[in-house]
Amino acid sequence: MNLELSDADRAFQAEVRDFVRSSLPPELAERNRRHMHLAKQDYVTWHRLLNKRGWGAPNWPKEFGGTGWNPVQRYIFDEECAIADAPPLVPFGISMVGPVIYTFGTPAQKAHYLPRILSMEDWWCQGYSEPGSGSDLASLRTRAESDGDDYIVTGHKIWTTQAHFADMMFCLVRTDAQAKPQEGISFLLIDMKTPGITVRPIISIDEGHGVNEVFLDGVRVPKANRIGQEGKGWTYAKFLLGNERTTIAEVSTSKQRLRRLKTIARAEMAQGASLLEDPAFRDKVASVEIELLALEYTNLRVLAAETAGKGVGPEASMLKIRGSEIQQTITELVCEALGYYAAPFEHAPEGSNLAPLGPDYAQGRMESFLYNRATTIYGGSNEIQRNIIAKMVLGL
Ligand SMILES: Cc1cc2nc3c(=O)[nH]c(=O)nc-3n(C[C@H](O)[C@H](O)[C@H](O)COP(=O)(O)OP(=O)(O)OC[C@H]3O[C@@H](n4cnc5c(N)ncnc54)[C@H](O)[C@@H]3O)c2cc1C
Repeated sequence: MNLELSDADRAFQAEVRDFVRSSLPPELAERNRRHMHLAKQDYVTWHRLLNKRGWGAPNWPKEFGGTGWNPVQRYIFDEECAIADAPPLVPFGISMVGPVIYTFGTPAQKAHYLPRILSMEDWWCQGYSEPGSGSDLASLRTRAESDGDDYIVTGHKIWTTQAHFADMMFCLVRTDAQAKPQEGISFLLIDMKTPGITVRPIISIDEGHGVNEVFLDGVRVPKANRIGQEGKGWTYAKFLLGNERTTIAEVSTSKQRLRRLKTIARAEMAQGASLLEDPAFRDKVASVEIELLALEYTNLRVLAAETAGKGVGPEASMLKIRGSEIQQTITELVCEALGYYAAPFEHAPEGSNLAPLGPDYAQGRMESFLYNRATTIYGGSNEIQRNIIAKMVLGL
């Protein structure tokens, strides 16, 4: 594939850059740059600005309200947003359930849900994992019993990211306890306001509230909210996971963090010279940069294949493993570069007039390092991704 930007690509890049620079509220970029815990409204504001411009769903075909962009355009868009420190697009609607709905949904489901994802009227969350059913997802026990035109859903989901913001949850449930584990699962769209749903926060190691437990106690869900056939939910769930793992690679975000790492290492001193000139540290930075470059090309190849009509296969596992490890390495190196300035676990509260304990660029870096421990777990742990590669690619 040719990675030289054409004149048309450069014009597109300038258009995206102009828009992002002129539209992204500076305080939002600043909060994101400092790894502050963003509020729901922060994400919604940025998404709606993009959607007004027609860019709310960079990965969707035009017929469903997406941009219809090719891989190079998507790559340029991601790059420009990362360079500007824009908040990430919330993946649950746009990257995860949206493509499931337009690929497998009924006309009524498409007509109802897709516009609401685009306008962010509905915030979605992912109800897959359960206590005891994470890696072994097919063992999930949340059950949906048939009751006329409805299901009655009872169970316990865990690690449900941003369920406390969510209007809707796409949820894996067991509709047939007698069938083989993968064959008894269905994929439901559940309104989070339905009686019987309780969301309980889990505070993570970075002191943030991103994940939750969700309890479902006799929750009535119309059968019209089931995607595809009863018992075939595993097929739609796997389709979604392929897309999820590709987005988790976060190449553009890592590139921006690498630029920041170099800025920090240039400013910090080690034995009378800039840390970036220290051969041992420079070696570590160069090594992660090479890994990231290789990942970027692999990501582009996968995007190109996807656009050519090939589904995302086990390559998604490769992207997930390398992408998550690189994110962890960069956040570790940032803390190493900051030395003792990385040690204070401080988030200056908004509006605070307390003097920060270290340089401005040290703010939020420890939280970012701690939160990134999760990247090798979520979206399916890296050990599980290695098992997939061993089986599907190496035939072991
Ligand atoms: C920050 C965060 C956000 C998340 N968000 C969501 C969400 O929004 N929705 C959702 O549904 N889930 C979410 N998850 C859950 C995530 O998908 C699971 O944590 C993950 O799949 C691992 O499952 P588990 O936690 O049950 O660990 P387990 O499956 O119990 O695994 C424990 C350890 O054993 C290893 N292991 C297990 N089986 C094997 C095997 N066969 N071979 C080799 N090693 C193995 C694992 O790699 C892991 O290291 C989130 C998790 C985190 C940390």
